[in-house]
Amino acid sequence: MSPYDLNWLVKHTEPRTAQMVAQLKEQGIHHLELLAVMGGLARHEFVEPAFSHLAYSATPLPIGRNQTISQPLTVARMSQWLLEHARRGRVLEIGTGSGYQTAILAHFFNKVHTIERQESLYLLAKERLAKMSVNNVECHFGDGQAGWPQKIDMDAVIITAMASKVPLALTDCLKENGILIMPIDSPASCIGCWQKKGQQWKCLGTAPAHFVPLLEGKEYA
Ligand code: SAH
Repeated sequence: MSPYDLNWLVKHTEPRTAQMVAQLKEQGIHHLELLAVMGGLARHEFVEPAFSHLAYSATPLPIGRNQTISQPLTVARMSQWLLEHARRGRVLEIGTGSGYQTAILAHFFNKVHTIERQESLYLLAKERLAKMSVNNVECHFGDGQAGWPQKIDMDAVIITAMASKVPLALTDCLKENGILIMPIDSPASCIGCWQKKGQQWKCLGTAPAHFVPLLEGKEYA
């Protein structure tokens, strides 16, 4: 029996986590290592304490500062696309939020660069990730639309807030064949996965999802 076998996983993880993993599998998440990582990650540590009893439910939840952590299926879909299509070198995440998606990315990528515009969320996520010994993440407090402060080519970019247009700095830093995951709101609110092909973008998948808006500038609090 292997820890990446779903039946083994369901039997050996906490009941509430096991239920979340089984539900994700039913909803089309088939990457067993991803399911194992999500099954082993304490999602209740990433949400506002008053909502921790709902942390493994199929719902977005408050993380403070009027922001939300996406529901497990959305996090799993975005991660699965990256695992299927991206080189596991460097990934840039816009919208650190609670750091939950960051922690999952850190398991699979050599290096995660993540940017958050709200100072208090940035500080909290940075501390939380350090306590969990997630060491291959660099957190930055700033407006993610400007990209990473140093010019570094990325294998993937994941934007976890809804933009009205794609910030150029975020597509420019992607390597050829790099993967872009971002929400779009037209014709309907959804999340999509694209591959950079010269000046073109090849769409590799879309799925319905809702996100908080990508905002300008930074906020101190
Ligand atoms: N991925 C996060 C949830 C993201 S919610 C998690 O797993 O918890 C979206 C986050 O994007 C919020 O924290 C919000 O403050 C942040 N955000 C919005 N606009 C931004 C911008 N321009 N630059 C960086 N972060 C931004």
